Amino acid sequence: MKNGRQGSTLRFNENDLVRERYDHLIGGQWTAPANGRYFDGINPSTGVKLGTFARGCDEDVDRAVRSAEIGFKKWFERDAHRRGQILYRAAQLMRDHKDRLSYLESLDTGKPLSVSARDVEICARYFEYYAGAADKLFGEVIPAPGKHLVYTLREPYGVVGHIIPWNGPISQAGRGVAPSLAAGNAVVVKPAEQTCITALEIALLCIEAGLPPDAFNVVTGTGEEAGRALVNHHGVRKLSFTGSVEVGKLVMKGAADRIVPVSLELGGKSPFVVFEDADVEGAAQQAGRTVVANTGQICSAGTRHIVQRSVAKRFTDRLVEYMGKVTLGPALDDPQVGPLVNEEQLRRVLNYVEIGKREGARCILGGTRPQDPKLKNGYFVLPTVFVDVQNHMTIAREEIFGPVASVIVFDTEDEAVSIANDTDYGLAGAVWSKDASRAHRVAGKIQAGQIYINCYQAVQVEAPFGGYKQSGVGREKGIEALHHYTQLKTVMLPTVG
Ligand code: NAD
Repeated sequence: MKNGRQGSTLRFNENDLVRERYDHLIGGQWTAPANGRYFDGINPSTGVKLGTFARGCDEDVDRAVRSAEIGFKKWFERDAHRRGQILYRAAQLMRDHKDRLSYLESLDTGKPLSVSARDVEICARYFEYYAGAADKLFGEVIPAPGKHLVYTLREPYGVVGHIIPWNGPISQAGRGVAPSLAAGNAVVVKPAEQTCITALEIALLCIEAGLPPDAFNVVTGTGEEAGRALVNHHGVRKLSFTGSVEVGKLVMKGAADRIVPVSLELGGKSPFVVFEDADVEGAAQQAGRTVVANTGQICSAGTRHIVQRSVAKRFTDRLVEYMGKVTLGPALDDPQVGPLVNEEQLRRVLNYVEIGKREGARCILGGTRPQDPKLKNGYFVLPTVFVDVQNHMTIAREEIFGPVASVIVFDTEDEAVSIANDTDYGLAGAVWSKDASRAHRVAGKIQAGQIYINCYQAVQVEAPFGGYKQSGVGREKGIEALHHYTQLKTVMLPTVG
């Protein structure tokens, strides 16, 4: 069966939709890079050039931050109620442009059209959710000794720098930018160099909705150049980074030099624990969906399947059956699974498959590129299942970021918890059991920021999300995120003369 539905009948002319050249968007104006340099974006489904993008440098970032400083003053002086209305209008515009945005996201990332459509909707939901929260962000009156009135105010930082990865360009831009703007900040966004288009598009829609153009700036370019310049710019008062642990450490070091707060949403190697009293078939199917979703390029994917011995074979058979049947294809055909984002990612995933085999795990499904000649120019890899995996093996420790499942067998509850926690990461985790006491007990023991019982990532926008251990610092999503985009001021005064 085809994945679906909303997007699959859409047909746009790619040449009309994708600009030949994308400059930076600074103060609402297309702005050529100061050094005149550009780079090519590639369509991952075909390996063919998609467009040309400005390669940002220090000077471009400086212009964007100065623009955002002006934008901040204009934006924050508006009533919170009015800010909410504008963000709400932006959400509506995103929905109005859903087909076009989905198409662009699919061309740029390789995501199946219906997955892109869902991501556009999630982005719109972030704007809608935080639009409603904009005028409900207030401080407290604190009972204080003596005759004093003590109260707190939640104030924006000013200019926030957002650095976005390539695996969820529009949803993650929305996740960071919407609460940031709702709290009264202005933003400079640096999308991943692999996937720049939709960050620029949502900035245009926010401006159309009434946001001061200088309050939403986008600088494209590499992490080494534009990303680093944003981290180091003295005008950026808060950083929000989503990406790898390796780069997250660099961002945190850069932030430390200037003493600016930083939210880090980093990688994961999340445990998916299945007890023998679970709905094993349901668990296996959900496990398979989780591994192949976005071609495995999801930070919170549950890729370590920690399964009780008595049901391990049943679970694995069902997992293989599900993952073996999913359809692969170019993004615009709306298959269940699209390509990986680029050739580098394809090589990385295939390399992990070889490492897994070398270290003694058994690959019982996939592990190679598909044979279909129609897919030979895209960056496709078959859904892959490893069994006989030990938790010390590389494929169980490192984030593969591809559709690769690892089945690890356990005997006792204590052993399951110990394997689940034996990782440097702590982004998410799942527990499958029909015994509610056990499910809650184990959920309490897993060291991760978000735990799913008998489901996986069922709620997106409203539920706080972020990492324990090396998976990150701070929280995105929900009301919690708003607090990370504000700083707290305490005011006190005597109440008697
Ligand atoms: P990455 O760390 O290579 O790049 C992320 C962003 O950082 C890109 O925009 C890149 O240009 C920029 N960057 C690179 N070097 C930089 C530098 N020196 N200074 C400043 N910016 C720099 O990550 P990626 O490969 O794009 O994304 C995949 C990673 O992101 C995975 O580890 C995944 O788990 C993680 N991720 C985490 C979440 C989450 O919410 N926790 C969500 C999505 C992806």
